[in-house]
Amino acid sequence: MADRMAFLTTARAERERRDAQERLGDWREVYRPGALLPVVGGQAGRCMDCGLPFCHSACPLGNLVPEWNRLVADADWRAAAARLLATNNFPEFTGRLCPAPCESACVLAIDGAAVTIKNVELAITDRAWEQGWDLPQPPERADGRRVAVVGSGPAGLAAAQQLTRAGYATTVYERADRPGGLLRYGIPPFRLEKHRLDRRLDQMRAEGTAFRTGVCVGRDVAAGELRAGCDALVVAVGAAACRELPVPGRGLSGVHQAIDYLTWANRVDEGDLAAPPVSAEGRHVVIVGGGDTAADCLGTALRQGAASVTQLDINPRPPAGRAPGQPWPVHPKVYRETTSHEESGAAEAGPRVFAATTVGFEPGPDGRLAAVGFAEAEPADRSPRAGTERSIPAELALLALGFTGPEPDQGLITQLGLATGPDGALARDDGFATDAPGVFVAGDAGRGQSLIVWAIAEGRAAAAAVDRYLRGDTELPAPIGASARALTL
Ligand SMILES: Cc1cc2nc3c(=O)[nH]c(=O)nc-3n(C[C@H](O)[C@H](O)[C@H](O)COP(=O)(O)OP(=O)(O)OC[C@H]3O[C@@H](n4cnc5c(N)ncnc54)[C@H](O)[C@@H]3O)c2cc1C
Ligand code: SF4
Repeated sequence: MADRMAFLTTARAERERRDAQERLGDWREVYRPGALLPVVGGQAGRCMDCGLPFCHSACPLGNLVPEWNRLVADADWRAAAARLLATNNFPEFTGRLCPAPCESACVLAIDGAAVTIKNVELAITDRAWEQGWDLPQPPERADGRRVAVVGSGPAGLAAAQQLTRAGYATTVYERADRPGGLLRYGIPPFRLEKHRLDRRLDQMRAEGTAFRTGVCVGRDVAAGELRAGCDALVVAVGAAACRELPVPGRGLSGVHQAIDYLTWANRVDEGDLAAPPVSAEGRHVVIVGGGDTAADCLGTALRQGAASVTQLDINPRPPAGRAPGQPWPVHPKVYRETTSHEESGAAEAGPRVFAATTVGFEPGPDGRLAAVGFAEAEPADRSPRAGTERSIPAELALLALGFTGPEPDQGLITQLGLATGPDGALARDDGFATDAPGVFVAGDAGRGQSLIVWAIAEGRAAAAAVDRYLRGDTELPAPIGASARALTL
């Protein structure tokens, strides 16, 4: 039995990363392989097994954190894997990529360092795969009814896996040539190596989920026809409409949306392209934006050999600790350095400029982008402060300004008669149902740009809603109810 007072004697220890310079020479994940297991038992032992585990309620999936922390501390890895997989279809993705609201809400974080919940999760899932404990779970009985899922990001995949396991003949339709959504073509391989996604897809195929890739529903297949040919339909098409920056020079050659740039780099990694059509190699690069997508552009540009990379973030630099309005257990907006920022420091690549609003893209004599103009942003309305304008040389500018909702022109929305909310997201009720009978919405398509953990949670909840619609009742777990759905992160 592990020491239950270990939080008093054991300091929080993070997962070891490879040297930043070494990382820049390849596209493999940034963490040192095998460096996690030796420390994680002791880290899990720091968990106090709280009577009211705030970590559990802060997780959109309702992960059973204290349970698997205790099992890992007691070295019962197999039982820990079973508890983890009971609430999360894809812990190998969240264990690597989640911002971990559970850690912000950990009781130890009130006045100290949270349990390294995410690392424990990752150690459990990697071990479960290694030991063959995360096996395909084909249904015991086929239901005979058919469900179509449109979109194969984490929301569509989670919904499909739950529905297949419940006995429905489930087909996932994906317009791209490979399934995975943003896990495949958005997030770079240095944060998620794609063999991990392929392994999960193989498991889903072995369970009976069918995939039809290269099919854009609404264009290649009429959405009404698809709905008529199945018993229920889940729309999980993401929120791929990019936010624009309507400033002078936006149309110049050399200014690109970040997601296009990241997709090209991922296609090189997949072996589809010998070289990206747009590369940062030898160029001065400006990234406009301050979130995950911007950080992924930074890591990608550095690996491509950019001459310099400057990041312009319109928001002021966040405080180092919790602001008074964001007390524990809220997931706070604090200054964070991603692994890409760590690499940027090591490569002396360029500054990260806060409270900077981009005012225009300037052409050179050849008509291509030569500089990016920006100014200090007024705190009140983020407008440019007069007299602070300056420009920096750039041959490549990447717009990482977030997403506004599902793309408007794909046909699917109008063909199914789906309504959109004022924010552009697809309207659904608290049970994930739309006004079209038997049509449900999950993930970023309904919630707006969000997180993988929310996409998985919504996929699971939408699957439970489909099961209830078709059978009148469900035993599938639905992590998110009406009230929780309103929470945002
Ligand atoms: C660069 C980047 C980095 C990110 N990093 C993180 C991170 O570190 N951690 C985190 O938690 N979140 C991160 N996110 C957010 C996260 O990836 C998304 O919230 C999540 O992928 C949403 O899942 P989804 O299934 O709703 O949609 P998506 O992953 O967008 O998948 C939607 C799928 O639907 C398909 N589709 C669309 N229309 C049709 C159609 N008509 N017919 C057929 N298929 C269609 C699309 O091709 C796509 O494959 C990141 C996002 C980006 C862009
Ligand atoms: S809040 Fe922290 S200490 Fe308490 S059960 Fe959760 S992980 Fe353990």
